[in-house]
Amino acid sequence: MANATVKSVDRSRASRPPRGIRDDEPFLTKEELAGMVLAYQPDADRARLHKAYEFAREKHGEQLRQSGDPYYSHPVRVATLLASVRLDEATIMAGLLHDTVEDCDDVDLAQIEDLFGTDVAELVDGVTKLGQLEYQSEASKQAENFQKFILATVNDIRVLLVKLADRTHNMRTLHHKKKEESRRRVARETMDLYAPLARRVGLHYLASEMEDLAFQHLNPEARAQILHQLETLESRNKDDLERIRLAIRQVMEREGIECRIKGRRKEPYSIWRKLEKKSISFEGVADIFGFRVIVDTVENCYRSLGVFHTEWACLPDRFRDFISVPKPNGYASLHTTVRASGNRLVELQIRTEDMDDTAERGVAAHWTYKNSAYGFDMESSKAAGLDPTANLKAFGELLSHGGDANDFLEHAKMEMYRTHVFAFTPNGRLVLLPAGSMPLDFAYAVHTAVGDTCDGAKINGVPRNMRVALENGDVVEIIRRKDPRPLPGYETLCVTGRARAAQRKLRREFETQQFASLGRNLLERALRQHQIDPVSVDMRKISERAGFDGVQAMFEALGRTQEEVSRVIGVAFPGLDLDAANPDDTVTLDDEHAPSLIAGENLTPGVTLHLGECCHPIPGDRIIGVREPQKGLVVHTIYCGQVAKYDDRPDLWVDLQWTELAKSGVRAIGRISVNAADHKGVLAQQCTVVAQAGGNIRGVSTHNRDPGFMELVFDIEVEDLRHLEQIKAALRALAVVERVERLEESEFE
Ligand code: MN
Repeated sequence: MANATVKSVDRSRASRPPRGIRDDEPFLTKEELAGMVLAYQPDADRARLHKAYEFAREKHGEQLRQSGDPYYSHPVRVATLLASVRLDEATIMAGLLHDTVEDCDDVDLAQIEDLFGTDVAELVDGVTKLGQLEYQSEASKQAENFQKFILATVNDIRVLLVKLADRTHNMRTLHHKKKEESRRRVARETMDLYAPLARRVGLHYLASEMEDLAFQHLNPEARAQILHQLETLESRNKDDLERIRLAIRQVMEREGIECRIKGRRKEPYSIWRKLEKKSISFEGVADIFGFRVIVDTVENCYRSLGVFHTEWACLPDRFRDFISVPKPNGYASLHTTVRASGNRLVELQIRTEDMDDTAERGVAAHWTYKNSAYGFDMESSKAAGLDPTANLKAFGELLSHGGDANDFLEHAKMEMYRTHVFAFTPNGRLVLLPAGSMPLDFAYAVHTAVGDTCDGAKINGVPRNMRVALENGDVVEIIRRKDPRPLPGYETLCVTGRARAAQRKLRREFETQQFASLGRNLLERALRQHQIDPVSVDMRKISERAGFDGVQAMFEALGRTQEEVSRVIGVAFPGLDLDAANPDDTVTLDDEHAPSLIAGENLTPGVTLHLGECCHPIPGDRIIGVREPQKGLVVHTIYCGQVAKYDDRPDLWVDLQWTELAKSGVRAIGRISVNAADHKGVLAQQCTVVAQAGGNIRGVSTHNRDPGFMELVFDIEVEDLRHLEQIKAALRALAVVERVERLEESEFE
């Protein structure tokens, strides 16, 4: 590979990748694979590589992949992928042998060590352990497993690299798996765990490929849609893009800077992520198309940047200097977005060959063959514009001391663990969640049905509060109820969008169901008042006659008081004398009746009176009027919060009293709030009590303020304040009711 002394631009690099990488090409023979390794590591042992290849072929024997290929083609392709990032001989051999201990009955680790040495055996062991982690089923092993996962990848970063190559190839052949569910599970795990890990160690092309393949399985429609749009956009802008490429070339030639230009197109999945994150349109994704300009030196990176900024207008807030401050995984480049010809936004990434190599191979780029030893190359790191003592200090020190525990990966992982948390299901499935996630998020990450029925959680075997944030390695057991049910106060019990959306949906369905049960209750009560047994009537027929699309729709409309019970009964039983059983002796206290009910010394005759929507004054309440501009006189109870707003405007106040007429038999609406335990049937129970006490429910709404409790707000037609007090007392007598209050302020507006 290039080092600090190479100053020219290596045009041969443009012809990558090597053969045998793509799945539609035949996999490599042992000679081809060994040749590929020897090309970058001249002292590699050809015979040992051949031996590992033959061992894998022999031990996997007649086994076939689901694709129909011989099984050993899989380790060969994994090894080829590893060779394509020029990893050392031991890693290539581990790639060839990675499935033998797990899958072949007559192979154990001791044998691998005997035949291929400790280094290779340790790598194979590490990869095997990572594999077991996926299928582990013993609950008690989980915390231990998690540690293994960390340790196996931290002790030797090559274990992770083999695992990532393994997973990449498994993703390429995932479509051969028969069960959709297991395809989705593998794809999800890849998206959540392996692709981010690949990014963290800078293996972007593996990460992108894994993401794209996982995206294909998880959301094929979205991917197809984006690809289609990309192609349309690309063909529409083809000429523009060609012009820009030409312009870059001309400008660089004029300045005498040698360069190589690569066009790049954003991956469908990263476009999708952008579309998801920000509410922008497809065309609004500015960096869909861009160019990489590869030059010989760091100085020329900055020179080119200056040239481009002189030539075209740049977007200052999109400029990034990853050369002076590289990313933790070693990525270095200058990024800038310019407004090129045709007013088109184009992202330019300017870098040296070495930076480009690092960008493609990530952490693997810093392993290089040198002085008969394969190890981390400080020179190449410096040439790439990185100062190991500053930005990659841990990495450099560690590897110059012989490649012990990989602090670099540790660093990358630390960063990852700040934003993510790993937890396990009782049967060993690893679940990756955003940091701060709670048991409900976990439940939804496992399965929507688990989230919908979530009723509690045990963490590491101990029942815990639902509001606890999960920690790395927690084993989470979700306690489920039989039927789906939203969790009260779920807004404070989850952080992931998935859990939120699902609970919101559940809440809506649940409310609908509650209104329907209230509606049924109201209708049945009314029927009984007419001496009709609700059991004997055909509700379906009634709903048809009343013009509803089904019984549930009718109940819901009644419960929501969008429909009058008396109208439904009138339509259903045309001969029935509605007045006889339910004489309409109630006069609702509304604005129309107000003038005859309210008196006041300073009341101007003819003034418009309004009853406060906020406090619903009823006869018996102490009341006051407030003159409001353009509204007339609004009547409030003296305790109403709205009145407090006029404390400093006594000139607007009018003293009022109820008339004698108001105190005799006029019905008014009182609004009360009931806090009750969130049990099934609570609403129906309360409706019955209100009805028995002679109250007429005109409306109800439910709210969830605290977990385990439900707040119901009733609008009840009552005779007077005393009547309302009686109803409140009757409600308080119910075991499930915690608190009953009259609402006198406009809490629900
Ligand atoms: Mn494998």
